[in-house]
Amino acid sequence: MINITLPDGSIKKVKRGTSAMDIAISISEGLARNVISASINGEVWDTNRPINEDCSLTLHTWKDQEGKKTFWHSSAHIMAEALEALYPGVKLGIGPAIDTGFYYDVDLGKHLLSSEELPKIEKKMKELISKKVTFQRKDISKSEAISYYSKKGDEYKLELLEDLEDGKITFYTQGNFTDLCKGPHITSTEKIKAVKLLNIAGAYWRGDENRKQLTRIYGISFPKQKELTEYLELLEEAKKRDHRKLGKEMNLFTFSKKVGQGLPLWLPKGTQLREKLENFLKKAQTEAGYLPVITPHIGNKDLYVCSGHYEKYGEDSFHPIKTPNNQEEFLLKPMNCPHHCEIYKAKQYSYKELPVRFAEFGTVYRYEQSGELHGLTRVRGFTQDDAHLFVRPDQVKQEFTAVINLVLYVFNALGFKDYKAQISLRDTTNKEKYIGSNKNWEKAEGAIIEAAEEKGLTTVIEYGEAAFYGPKLDFMVKDALGREWQLGTIQVDYNLPERFELEYTDANNKKQRPVMIHRAPFGSMERFVAILIEHCGGNFPLWLAPDQYIILPISEKYHDYAQKVSEFLKKYDICGRIDERAETTGRKIRDAEVSKSPYIIIVGEREEKEEKISVRKHGGKDLGSISFFEFKDLIKKEINNLTQFTN
Ligand SMILES: [Zn+2]
Ligand SMILES: [Zn+2]
Repeated sequence: MINITLPDGSIKKVKRGTSAMDIAISISEGLARNVISASINGEVWDTNRPINEDCSLTLHTWKDQEGKKTFWHSSAHIMAEALEALYPGVKLGIGPAIDTGFYYDVDLGKHLLSSEELPKIEKKMKELISKKVTFQRKDISKSEAISYYSKKGDEYKLELLEDLEDGKITFYTQGNFTDLCKGPHITSTEKIKAVKLLNIAGAYWRGDENRKQLTRIYGISFPKQKELTEYLELLEEAKKRDHRKLGKEMNLFTFSKKVGQGLPLWLPKGTQLREKLENFLKKAQTEAGYLPVITPHIGNKDLYVCSGHYEKYGEDSFHPIKTPNNQEEFLLKPMNCPHHCEIYKAKQYSYKELPVRFAEFGTVYRYEQSGELHGLTRVRGFTQDDAHLFVRPDQVKQEFTAVINLVLYVFNALGFKDYKAQISLRDTTNKEKYIGSNKNWEKAEGAIIEAAEEKGLTTVIEYGEAAFYGPKLDFMVKDALGREWQLGTIQVDYNLPERFELEYTDANNKKQRPVMIHRAPFGSMERFVAILIEHCGGNFPLWLAPDQYIILPISEKYHDYAQKVSEFLKKYDICGRIDERAETTGRKIRDAEVSKSPYIIIVGEREEKEEKISVRKHGGKDLGSISFFEFKDLIKKEINNLTQFTN
C-alpha cells in the first residue's frame, strides 16, 4: 500500500499502481469525468499513469491552468498528426501549450503555408478527434529514439534528443502519430469538442535568428463548443481594443525603425496622458511621505556587479558601453534600485528617521529579442513608477499596508475593480536557499499576510514562489475582457541592503541593516498605458482623457464663442479642443464619438445668446443646455470622486 496526500492534507491509502484517475473515481463520478491531469509531487502526470510511491496529489480539471495546458498540448499533437496526413514529409520542431492555446513549429520544406489552408487542417483534426483514440506513453531508450527519428528524417527532433538523458526519454502515440514528448496528455481525443486554428507566424528554430525560420501554427481547443464561440467573440473584442490599433487612432504613441525597435515614441496626446498619470501618482506619493529622487540612465558596470544585476542582465541584455578611457565601462540602467541604494548611502540614518521612501519615474533598458517585442507591453526601454522604501524590520507591516493603500487607490481611480492579491512565500521544506534571517522572514511573511487580510483582499498564497531575497505580493488584475495582468508588485528585499552594506543606527547606537521594499503600482508606464487602453477600449476615465471635451460650433460664426468657452474651461485645468472644420454638425458629432472624447459641447446662436452650452456625453446621453459654471462643476465633481487619495 502507498499513501497519497491530497491537497486538504487528508491521506488516502491505496494499492501500489493506482492511478490519479482511480483516485478521482473514488472521490466522485463528476470529478472523474472532468479530471484532465494530476500533479504528483509537483510534477504534472497523465491521469492513467500508475503511481508506485507515497506522494502528494492534486487533480487538475479544465478550471486549472495545468489542466488546460495538458488539454492544449494534446491538441498540438493532434494538429501535428493532421499536418503529417496532409503534408507528407513535414518536419516537426516543438509544439507546446501556451497560456491560451497551443502551437507547433513545423518545417514544411518548400511549401509556404497560407492561412487559407488552416480550415483544411482544422477539418482533418476534427476527423482524427472523432476517432476517439487514446494517448499512449512509452519509455524508450535514447538509441531507439534516435533510430526512429533518423529513419523519419526529422533533424529537429534529433537535435532535441541530443540534450536528453538516456533512461528519461518517452514517446507518446495517438492514432498514427508518435512524438518525442514528456507529456502529460489527456486520456482520449474524445475530450476535445471544439478546435480552432488561429494564425500563422514565422519562428526561428530555438529562437535563434541565425537558424532556419519555421512556420508556427497557433490554435486553441475546448471541451465545449460554447466555450470556443465565447472565446472567439472575446478575441474579436480584443482586436477592436488592441492598444497598438487604438494608440495609433488616438495619436498616443508611435515607433520608428530609425529610432530602433522596441523604443516607443510618445506623441503629444500620449505624453499628456502619461504626464497626467505621473502627476496623479506623484501627488499621492507626496501625501504618503515619499521623497522624489532623480538618477542617470546609465551607471558604472561595477554598480551592477555589486547589486548582482550584471550577472542577471549583463550577457543577455545591452552590453556595456565603452568610453575613451579603457578602464571604465557603463551599463544602460536595467534597474533603478542600485542607484537608490547609493542615494541612501549618501547620508547616515538613525532608527528615528526610518522609513525613508525614494520615488522616481526611472527609465530602464533591457534587451528583448525582436520576436518578443509587442506594442507597449514588451519594449526595450520603459519607465517604471519605481520607489524603494528603506525600513526597520518592525516597520514592514505598516509600510506594506500603506503601499497596498496606494495601489488600491490607483486601481480605483482607473476603473480596475476585479483583482486579487497573490502572496509569494518561501518553500516551507527548503528554507536554506533564502537570504536573510529566519526571524526576519517570518516577520515579513506574517506582516504581508496580515496586511492583505486587514485590507480584506482576496488572497492566494503561493509557497516556494518567493525570490531568494524576500517575499512579495503581486496584484493579479482582471481587465474588462477577463484577461489577467500582474500589476502593482510589492517586493521585500534582504539582499541589496546586504550587498550595498546599508545601515542605520538603532536606539543602542548599534549599526543595523534596514529592510528594502521595492514597489511599483503601475509597473511600467508603457505596459500600464497599454493595459489601460485595452481595459477601457480607449474610453479613458474623464480625468485622464487627452481631450476631456470637444466643442463643435455649428458654423464659423460661433468660433469666437467656442474660443471663449474653451478659455474659461482652461482656467480650471479642463482641457479639450474645438472642431473648426467646415463639416456638418452631424459629421462632427460622429467624428467626436470616434475620438472617444467624454464630452461633446455644441454651440450655436441660442447658446451664445443665453451664454450657455449644449452638452452631450460620449455614447449619446444628452445633458441639455447648461451654463459654463455648471459644466465646470460637473467635471470637477466627476474627477474628484475618482482621484481623492486618503492614506
Ligand atoms: Zn508533446
Ligand atoms: Zn527595485
